[in-house]
Amino acid sequence: MKAVEIICGNCGADTLLKREARYDGFTKVGEKLICSSCGFEYADESDVPFKEKTSEPAVFTEADRSAKVEVFDEDESQNLCRYCANYIVNPFTQFCALHKKEVQSTDTCERFERAEEKDDAEGVL
Ligand SMILES: [Zn+2]
Repeated sequence: MKAVEIICGNCGADTLLKREARYDGFTKVGEKLICSSCGFEYADESDVPFKEKTSEPAVFTEADRSAKVEVFDEDESQNLCRYCANYIVNPFTQFCALHKKEVQSTDTCERFERAEEKDDAEGVL
């Protein structure tokens, strides 16, 4: 049986509650709730001055950290030179027509302008 800590309402001791079987003849009819310090008997469980449990420090588990923060939202991740109207690609280089410099398809740009959807099938003879 677990030791239950109480602050006795009778003697004021920081002590343990003692439970003893209460018998009517040979039949167990209940439990006595007794202060192990002074022997005061509590009539009912609700009368027992249970000691408040000290709040345990919050323990963070790995599971709490599993939710990953998305770094890029959908729009940001699409803000790439390869999707930009000013992006020119040929077999030798990738070039930004706006900044007149070489770029990478994965570069991002503040001056991003979404290119019109190109239909690759068009013009194929
Ligand atoms: Zn007591």
